[in-house]
Amino acid sequence: MCNFEGTGLGASRSTCSDYKGKIRFMQKDDILRLMRDPNLIPLEKQTLLSNIADQASALNMPCYLVGGCVRDLWLRRPVNDLDVIVEGDAIQLGKSLVEVYGGKLTPHFKFNTAIWHLPASTEFVDLITARKETYEKPGALPTVASSTIEDDLRRRDFTINAMALRLDGEGLGEILDPLKGHADLGRGVIRVLNPNSFMDDPTRIFRAIRYEGRYGFLMDAGTAALVNPDSLKTLHSLSGERIRHELDLVLDEEQAAVMMLRIADLGLLPAIHPVLPEFDPNLSDYLEMETHLDVPGDRRTMGYMLWFINLGEADVLLLANRLDFTNELTLAVWAAAQLKRGLPHLIGSTPSIWTYAVEKLPLISIYAVYLVSREKALLDYISFWRHVRPHTTGNDLKTMGLPPGPRYGEILERLRAAWLDGVLSTKSEEEELLNQLLAEPD
Ligand code: ATP
Repeated sequence: MCNFEGTGLGASRSTCSDYKGKIRFMQKDDILRLMRDPNLIPLEKQTLLSNIADQASALNMPCYLVGGCVRDLWLRRPVNDLDVIVEGDAIQLGKSLVEVYGGKLTPHFKFNTAIWHLPASTEFVDLITARKETYEKPGALPTVASSTIEDDLRRRDFTINAMALRLDGEGLGEILDPLKGHADLGRGVIRVLNPNSFMDDPTRIFRAIRYEGRYGFLMDAGTAALVNPDSLKTLHSLSGERIRHELDLVLDEEQAAVMMLRIADLGLLPAIHPVLPEFDPNLSDYLEMETHLDVPGDRRTMGYMLWFINLGEADVLLLANRLDFTNELTLAVWAAAQLKRGLPHLIGSTPSIWTYAVEKLPLISIYAVYLVSREKALLDYISFWRHVRPHTTGNDLKTMGLPPGPRYGEILERLRAAWLDGVLSTKSEEEELLNQLLAEPD
């Protein structure tokens, strides 16, 4: 059993992960072995790290890997982004890397950080100057000043993300863990570093929920208690863009449905917006987009459509505004909700009526409504009907002497409808119908 230390949070929704008991303390040699495992850090990235470490040594700057990459290495999970921190000037380090190895540097003078874009590659590395942060008011962005690695670890969100791994010189492979993140990894616990953490930055509540769901961990009792009316209130002052970014990251996760339930259980939904509904966990399988149907779209768009599919038009628009949706996302979500509502009126219609009703809507919205309703006509539309066109073209009508005007569109539409509804099955039948239509008075 996991030790939830009296959190009062049952393990019903989140199972304790396989990690428990396996996160033993490691010696330097064990860490070095993990750092050299190409399944955890690809070989090119290993070379990159050693190049960075060499340059940092030459400049006398202690240099570390920090945050999620140390956590994931310890969990023996493949490391995605490399966050490199120096006690010194990250921009100066970046400049010397460009001098020796090439590539391009994008410096950010405000935070003294830099992005090093590697030569002949789309890869990049974040180079960060160790810093400390203070928050002037809840939900605001912090004020920062250069500092030591220890201070930098103390500005982080959770103990499991506040470990550093030294990269340069003799120190290579040493772990800095002043906040006992390693012990919390072993216990499967997400723990904030100070009681104001969620007030200072309420996006951390979403981050905690993501780590819980992803690793099967739980917040410790003290941390869970900090998700309270006071910290939830600060969600109001978070911009739509920042909240949507957090929700996007949730939707990207394999365990998105578990995380969505936790978001609802912890009372985040009304704190974000009073009309925000719960995500129906039964729909989570549909987040995986099937590709063989050739429907362009992505997991996030699908996620928001499924989430809001039972809402009325006004609520969809309120939420699109609160979450700062792009126009494209708003259209997709609105169309899915509208089509779902309109379905009872369409059921039993002819293929041409279905086609006429849905063809202006984004394909991904139609697909979402198909997934939740299993209405076969929608699948027929996506698979076949949308491709149906008569043989006759506008050019043919012109050649036949039809004067320019709206009849072009009407005739082509009627021919198409006849094909869709099975009235026509051969080219000569189409020609016969075309002649009848041309003979009709305007
Ligand atoms: P993921 O695997 O989800 O990408 P990550 O830990 O790599 O997780 P990032 O968002 O890339 O997350 O952040 C990198 C590191 O920066 C974190 O590990 C954490 O130490 C720190 N960090 C990120 N966001 C915050 C925050 N809101 N407050 C404090 N520290 C943060």
